[in-house]
Amino acid sequence: MLFDDVPFSACLGAGQDRGAPVEREGSLLASCCADREKGSEAVSPVAIVWPCPLAVDAYVAAGRDVAFPRPGCPSCAGPLVFWSGYRRYVRAAGRCRKIFVPRLRCAPCGVSHALLPAFTLAWRLDVAETIGLVLAEVAGGGCGVRPAAERAGVPYETARGWVRRFRARGRELGVAFAALAVELGGAAVTPLAGTGRFALAAVGAAFAAAAGLPGWRRVGAWRFASAVTGGRLIAASTVSPWFVVGRRRFMPPIPP
Ligand SMILES: [Zn+2]
Repeated sequence: MLFDDVPFSACLGAGQDRGAPVEREGSLLASCCADREKGSEAVSPVAIVWPCPLAVDAYVAAGRDVAFPRPGCPSCAGPLVFWSGYRRYVRAAGRCRKIFVPRLRCAPCGVSHALLPAFTLAWRLDVAETIGLVLAEVAGGGCGVRPAAERAGVPYETARGWVRRFRARGRELGVAFAALAVELGGAAVTPLAGTGRFALAAVGAAFAAAAGLPGWRRVGAWRFASAVTGGRLIAASTVSPWFVVGRRRFMPPIPP
């Protein structure tokens, strides 16, 4: 099968691309910043997002015993070794939880990469499913931001920020996910009038195609979207996820 020998993924942090803006996971990475202040090695701007199928509770409960994948280095494809990690918050179902995020280090490159579970988006507190639900409702035209935010249990301004960013990047995301859908053997998506609607339709088509590959269905559409964009679905990055996808190896979900 066409994609069986192509690890499907996620090692898609865009920061490895030369010239990409240096972004870090931001204020959520308190421990990482503390390490930098202590003079340890520079933390890579690159987050690797892996297609974690675990519920947030299960991930929290497993702590450091989560069966983390160990992908090759996104820059040089060499072996990565686990290299400490940090804790960050996520909010799921209205509840803040602290999760462990391991770091992987590449000795030849001298950098470390955060290994984020796909239920997170870089620099965002809320889980991908919460954000995706709001995006689907509002960008899909089903309702306004306020009722969607209330249903999701998040502040109005937060939800409004997600929708604005998603719409602002809608064309770029739509083109990228539509191309990915076709690459995965899925349906073609024609651009729609609203950028948000187009992006939503394209994410849906790409996920529908990916769901035919082992493991993706249970990961879910929004974790898939996070994995494919290296956690940058609604980041300010101007790097096209398609560009990144096209240059990266894919990391398959872990079989059940
Ligand atoms: Zn490397």
